[in-house]
Amino acid sequence: MIQVSTIQDIRDARKKLKGRVGLVPTMGYLHAGHISLVEIAKEHSDIVIMSIFVNPSQFGPNDDLEAYPRNLEHDFELLEQAGVDLVWLPTNEIMYPKNYQTWIDLDHIPQFLEGRQRPGHFKGVSTVVAKLINVVQPDLAVFGQKDAQQVAVIKQMVRDLNMPVEIAVGAIIREPDGLAMSSRNSYLDVKHRQAATVLYQALQDAQTKFQKGERRAEAIRKTMTDTINNEPLAKLEYVSCANLDSLEELENISTQALLSMAVYVGQTRLIDNLVLGEE
Ligand code: AMP
Repeated sequence: MIQVSTIQDIRDARKKLKGRVGLVPTMGYLHAGHISLVEIAKEHSDIVIMSIFVNPSQFGPNDDLEAYPRNLEHDFELLEQAGVDLVWLPTNEIMYPKNYQTWIDLDHIPQFLEGRQRPGHFKGVSTVVAKLINVVQPDLAVFGQKDAQQVAVIKQMVRDLNMPVEIAVGAIIREPDGLAMSSRNSYLDVKHRQAATVLYQALQDAQTKFQKGERRAEAIRKTMTDTINNEPLAKLEYVSCANLDSLEELENISTQALLSMAVYVGQTRLIDNLVLGEE
Protein backbone atom coordinates (compact mmCIF):
# COMPACT_ATOMS: atom_id res chain seq x y z
CA MET A 1 0.00 0.00 0.00
CA ILE A 2 1.37 3.36 -1.02
CA GLN A 3 1.31 6.14 1.59
CA VAL A 4 1.44 9.79 0.60
CA SER A 5 0.94 13.10 2.33
CA THR A 6 1.63 16.16 0.16
CA ILE A 7 -0.63 17.35 -2.67
CA GLN A 8 2.22 16.86 -5.14
CA ASP A 9 2.77 13.26 -4.00
CA ILE A 10 -0.88 12.25 -4.21
CA ARG A 11 -1.17 13.93 -7.64
CA ASP A 12 1.95 12.13 -8.88
CA ALA A 13 0.73 8.80 -7.50
CA ARG A 14 -2.73 9.36 -8.97
CA LYS A 15 -1.27 9.98 -12.43
CA LYS A 16 0.44 6.59 -12.39
CA LEU A 17 -2.76 4.70 -11.51
CA LYS A 18 -4.51 3.06 -14.41
CA GLY A 19 -8.23 2.34 -14.39
CA ARG A 20 -11.23 3.56 -12.44
CA VAL A 21 -10.40 5.15 -9.10
CA GLY A 22 -12.63 4.95 -6.00
CA LEU A 23 -12.04 7.29 -3.05
CA VAL A 24 -13.13 6.61 0.54
CA PRO A 25 -12.73 9.75 2.68
CA THR A 26 -12.40 9.10 6.43
CA MET A 27 -11.10 10.58 9.66
CA GLY A 28 -9.34 7.33 10.59
CA TYR A 29 -9.69 5.14 13.69
CA LEU A 30 -11.11 2.66 11.27
CA HIS A 31 -13.74 0.02 11.93
CA ALA A 32 -15.85 -2.39 9.89
CA GLY A 33 -18.13 0.47 8.78
CA HIS A 34 -15.21 2.15 7.00
CA ILE A 35 -14.05 -1.17 5.54
CA SER A 36 -17.53 -1.81 4.11
CA LEU A 37 -17.08 1.41 2.11
CA VAL A 38 -13.72 0.11 0.84
CA GLU A 39 -15.51 -3.06 -0.31
CA ILE A 40 -18.04 -0.96 -2.23
CA ALA A 41 -15.23 1.07 -3.78
CA LYS A 42 -13.45 -2.15 -4.79
CA GLU A 43 -16.58 -3.53 -6.39
CA HIS A 44 -16.98 -0.47 -8.58
CA SER A 45 -13.39 0.56 -9.29
CA ASP A 46 -9.96 -0.81 -10.13
CA ILE A 47 -8.00 1.25 -7.62
CA VAL A 48 -9.06 2.23 -4.10
CA ILE A 49 -7.70 5.31 -2.36
CA MET A 50 -8.52 6.14 1.24
CA SER A 51 -7.92 9.54 2.75
CA ILE A 52 -7.45 9.83 6.49
CA PHE A 53 -7.76 13.38 7.75
CA VAL A 54 -9.30 14.64 10.99
CA ASN A 55 -10.67 17.78 9.43
CA PRO A 56 -10.51 20.64 11.97
CA SER A 57 -12.93 22.85 10.04
CA GLN A 58 -15.87 20.52 10.66
CA PHE A 59 -15.39 20.59 14.45
CA GLY A 60 -17.01 23.34 16.50
CA PRO A 61 -15.29 25.05 19.45
CA ASN A 62 -16.98 22.65 21.90
CA ASP A 63 -16.48 19.52 19.79
CA ASP A 64 -13.97 16.76 20.38
CA LEU A 65 -11.25 17.69 17.86
CA GLU A 66 -8.35 17.25 20.30
CA ALA A 67 -9.81 14.10 21.85
CA TYR A 68 -10.80 12.51 18.53
CA PRO A 69 -9.39 8.95 18.60
CA ARG A 70 -6.42 8.17 16.40
CA ASN A 71 -4.53 4.91 15.77
CA LEU A 72 -2.76 4.93 12.44
CA GLU A 73 -0.93 1.68 13.05
CA HIS A 74 -4.19 -0.22 13.44
CA ASP A 75 -5.70 1.69 10.51
CA PHE A 76 -2.85 0.57 8.23
CA GLU A 77 -3.34 -3.06 9.27
CA LEU A 78 -7.02 -2.92 8.34
CA LEU A 79 -6.27 -1.13 5.08
CA GLU A 80 -3.62 -3.68 4.05
CA GLN A 81 -6.06 -6.50 4.82
CA ALA A 82 -8.83 -4.77 2.89
CA GLY A 83 -6.59 -4.29 -0.14
CA VAL A 84 -6.54 -0.51 -0.29
CA ASP A 85 -4.00 0.61 -2.90
CA LEU A 86 -3.12 4.05 -1.63
CA VAL A 87 -3.66 5.97 1.57
CA TRP A 88 -3.48 9.75 1.62
CA LEU A 89 -2.68 11.41 4.94
CA PRO A 90 -2.65 15.17 4.53
CA THR A 91 -1.81 17.46 7.46
CA ASN A 92 -3.76 20.55 8.56
CA GLU A 93 -1.07 22.73 6.96
CA ILE A 94 -1.40 20.90 3.66
CA MET A 95 -5.19 21.21 3.58
CA TYR A 96 -5.45 24.70 5.07
CA PRO A 97 -2.21 26.56 4.37
CA LYS A 98 -1.67 30.10 5.63
CA ASN A 99 -4.11 32.56 4.05
CA TYR A 100 -6.61 29.85 3.17
CA GLN A 101 -9.86 31.65 2.21
CA THR A 102 -12.31 29.54 0.23
CA TRP A 103 -15.33 27.74 1.68
CA ILE A 104 -18.28 25.86 0.28
CA ASP A 105 -21.52 26.44 2.14
CA LEU A 106 -24.90 25.08 1.06
CA ASP A 107 -28.00 27.24 1.49
CA HIS A 108 -30.62 24.81 2.63
CA ILE A 109 -29.70 21.27 3.67
CA PRO A 110 -27.36 22.27 6.54
CA GLN A 111 -30.19 24.18 8.24
CA PHE A 112 -31.65 20.97 9.65
CA LEU A 113 -30.68 18.13 11.98
CA GLU A 114 -26.91 17.96 12.54
CA GLY A 115 -26.27 21.26 10.80
CA ARG A 116 -28.68 23.03 13.11
CA GLN A 117 -27.01 21.59 16.22
CA ARG A 118 -23.48 22.04 14.92
CA PRO A 119 -23.27 25.43 13.14
CA GLY A 120 -20.51 25.46 10.53
CA HIS A 121 -20.08 21.68 10.59
CA PHE A 122 -21.26 21.10 7.05
CA LYS A 123 -19.34 24.10 5.73
CA GLY A 124 -16.24 22.23 6.92
CA VAL A 125 -17.47 18.92 5.51
CA SER A 126 -18.44 20.17 2.06
CA THR A 127 -15.22 22.17 1.74
CA VAL A 128 -12.92 19.31 2.73
CA VAL A 129 -14.76 16.77 0.57
CA ALA A 130 -14.55 19.14 -2.42
CA LYS A 131 -10.82 19.53 -1.80
CA LEU A 132 -10.28 15.76 -1.47
CA ILE A 133 -12.18 15.17 -4.70
CA ASN A 134 -10.36 17.97 -6.52
CA VAL A 135 -6.98 16.59 -5.57
CA VAL A 136 -7.64 12.87 -6.05
CA GLN A 137 -10.01 13.25 -9.02
CA PRO A 138 -11.70 9.91 -8.36
CA ASP A 139 -14.33 8.42 -10.63
CA LEU A 140 -16.27 7.35 -7.56
CA ALA A 141 -16.41 8.54 -3.94
CA VAL A 142 -18.05 6.39 -1.26
CA PHE A 143 -19.80 7.64 1.88
CA GLY A 144 -21.77 5.97 4.68
CA GLN A 145 -25.48 6.31 5.31
CA LYS A 146 -24.48 6.56 9.00
CA ASP A 147 -24.04 10.27 8.24
CA ALA A 148 -27.24 10.65 6.26
CA GLN A 149 -27.21 14.44 6.14
CA GLN A 150 -23.57 14.41 5.03
CA VAL A 151 -24.62 12.22 2.10
CA ALA A 152 -27.39 14.71 1.21
CA VAL A 153 -24.95 17.63 1.42
CA ILE A 154 -22.33 15.94 -0.74
CA LYS A 155 -24.78 14.79 -3.39
CA GLN A 156 -26.19 18.32 -3.59
CA MET A 157 -22.72 19.88 -3.81
CA VAL A 158 -21.64 17.47 -6.55
CA ARG A 159 -24.80 18.34 -8.52
CA ASP A 160 -24.56 22.08 -7.94
CA LEU A 161 -20.86 22.35 -8.78
CA ASN A 162 -20.98 19.85 -11.67
CA MET A 163 -18.24 17.79 -10.07
CA PRO A 164 -17.39 14.86 -12.37
CA VAL A 165 -17.63 12.16 -9.71
CA GLU A 166 -20.11 9.42 -8.93
CA ILE A 167 -21.30 9.14 -5.32
CA ALA A 168 -22.01 5.74 -3.77
CA VAL A 169 -23.57 5.21 -0.34
CA GLY A 170 -22.92 2.27 2.01
CA ALA A 171 -25.48 0.94 4.51
CA ILE A 172 -24.93 1.47 8.24
CA ILE A 173 -22.78 -1.29 9.72
CA ARG A 174 -23.85 -2.18 13.25
CA GLU A 175 -22.45 -4.08 16.22
CA PRO A 176 -24.30 -7.36 16.96
CA ASP A 177 -26.51 -5.55 19.50
CA GLY A 178 -27.49 -2.90 16.97
CA LEU A 179 -25.22 -0.01 17.96
CA ALA A 180 -24.05 1.73 14.79
CA MET A 181 -20.28 1.44 14.51
CA SER A 182 -18.51 4.73 15.12
CA SER A 183 -15.01 5.83 16.03
CA ARG A 184 -16.65 7.73 18.90
CA ASN A 185 -17.96 4.50 20.46
CA SER A 186 -14.46 4.14 21.91
CA TYR A 187 -15.35 6.95 24.34
CA LEU A 188 -17.98 4.72 26.00
CA ASP A 189 -17.23 2.75 29.18
CA VAL A 190 -19.00 -0.58 29.74
CA LYS A 191 -22.06 0.97 31.39
CA HIS A 192 -22.51 3.64 28.72
CA ARG A 193 -21.75 1.18 25.91
CA GLN A 194 -24.69 -0.90 27.14
CA ALA A 195 -26.93 2.19 27.39
CA ALA A 196 -25.96 3.25 23.86
CA THR A 197 -28.05 0.43 22.38
CA VAL A 198 -31.05 2.66 23.13
CA LEU A 199 -30.56 4.61 19.88
CA TYR A 200 -31.17 1.61 17.66
CA GLN A 201 -33.93 0.45 20.00
CA ALA A 202 -35.70 3.78 19.50
CA LEU A 203 -35.40 3.49 15.72
CA GLN A 204 -36.75 -0.06 15.83
CA ASP A 205 -39.66 0.93 18.08
CA ALA A 206 -40.56 3.65 15.58
CA GLN A 207 -40.27 1.19 12.69
CA THR A 208 -42.59 -1.24 14.47
CA LYS A 209 -45.15 1.55 14.92
CA PHE A 210 -44.83 2.40 11.23
CA GLN A 211 -45.24 -1.25 10.23
CA LYS A 212 -48.43 -1.40 12.32
CA GLY A 213 -49.79 1.47 10.24
CA GLU A 214 -48.80 4.67 12.06
CA ARG A 215 -48.23 7.45 9.53
CA ARG A 216 -48.32 10.55 11.75
CA ALA A 217 -44.75 11.81 12.01
CA GLU A 218 -45.34 13.34 15.44
CA ALA A 219 -46.40 9.97 16.83
CA ILE A 220 -43.28 8.38 15.34
CA ARG A 221 -41.10 11.12 16.89
CA LYS A 222 -42.82 10.57 20.25
CA THR A 223 -42.13 6.83 20.14
CA MET A 224 -38.41 7.49 19.63
CA THR A 225 -38.40 10.19 22.34
CA ASP A 226 -40.10 7.90 24.87
CA THR A 227 -37.65 5.07 24.27
CA ILE A 228 -34.64 7.37 24.67
CA ASN A 229 -36.10 8.98 27.79
CA ASN A 230 -36.49 5.55 29.34
CA GLU A 231 -32.73 5.14 29.44
CA PRO A 232 -31.38 7.08 32.44
CA LEU A 233 -27.87 7.44 30.97
CA ALA A 234 -29.16 8.89 27.69
CA LYS A 235 -30.05 12.51 27.04
CA LEU A 236 -31.90 13.27 23.83
CA GLU A 237 -30.64 16.18 21.73
CA TYR A 238 -33.10 15.81 18.86
CA VAL A 239 -35.28 13.28 17.10
CA SER A 240 -36.51 13.76 13.59
CA CYS A 241 -38.88 12.20 11.12
CA ALA A 242 -38.06 14.08 7.94
CA ASN A 243 -38.41 14.09 4.18
CA LEU A 244 -35.59 11.93 2.86
CA ASP A 245 -34.46 14.51 0.30
CA SER A 246 -35.22 17.95 1.73
CA LEU A 247 -34.70 16.87 5.39
CA GLU A 248 -37.67 19.02 6.41
CA GLU A 249 -39.80 17.63 9.22
CA LEU A 250 -42.86 15.72 8.04
CA GLU A 251 -46.44 15.84 9.26
CA ASN A 252 -47.39 12.59 7.62
CA ILE A 253 -45.29 9.83 6.11
CA SER A 254 -46.48 9.17 2.59
CA THR A 255 -43.56 7.39 0.92
CA GLN A 256 -40.16 7.33 2.59
CA ALA A 257 -38.94 9.13 5.70
CA LEU A 258 -35.57 9.57 7.36
CA LEU A 259 -35.73 8.86 11.09
CA SER A 260 -32.70 10.31 12.82
CA MET A 261 -31.48 11.41 16.21
CA ALA A 262 -28.59 12.72 18.24
CA VAL A 263 -28.30 11.46 21.80
CA TYR A 264 -25.77 12.07 24.54
CA VAL A 265 -24.87 8.86 26.32
CA GLY A 266 -22.95 10.27 29.24
CA GLN A 267 -20.56 12.77 27.64
CA THR A 268 -20.54 11.03 24.25
CA ARG A 269 -22.70 12.40 21.46
CA LEU A 270 -23.98 9.62 19.19
CA ILE A 271 -26.10 9.78 16.04
CA ASP A 272 -28.09 7.13 14.24
CA ASN A 273 -30.77 6.89 11.57
CA LEU A 274 -33.05 4.60 9.63
CA VAL A 275 -35.05 5.00 6.45
CA LEU A 276 -38.74 4.11 6.78
CA GLY A 277 -40.81 2.88 3.88
CA GLU A 278 -40.14 1.36 0.47
CA GLU A 279 -38.54 3.32 -2.36
P1 AMP B 1 -15.61 9.19 9.61
O1 AMP B 1 -14.26 8.57 9.72
O2 AMP B 1 -16.43 9.09 10.86
O3 AMP B 1 -15.58 10.57 9.03
O4 AMP B 1 -16.40 8.31 8.56
C1 AMP B 1 -15.89 8.11 7.27
C2 AMP B 1 -16.97 7.50 6.41
O5 AMP B 1 -17.38 6.26 6.99
C3 AMP B 1 -18.23 8.39 6.34
O6 AMP B 1 -18.74 8.35 5.01
C4 AMP B 1 -19.16 7.72 7.31
O7 AMP B 1 -20.52 7.93 7.02
C5 AMP B 1 -18.79 6.26 7.13
N1 AMP B 1 -19.19 5.47 8.30
C6 AMP B 1 -18.93 5.74 9.60
N2 AMP B 1 -19.51 4.81 10.39
C7 AMP B 1 -20.14 3.93 9.57
C8 AMP B 1 -20.93 2.77 9.78
N3 AMP B 1 -21.19 2.30 11.00
N4 AMP B 1 -21.41 2.12 8.70
C9 AMP B 1 -21.17 2.59 7.44
N5 AMP B 1 -20.43 3.68 7.18
C10 AMP B 1 -19.93 4.35 8.22
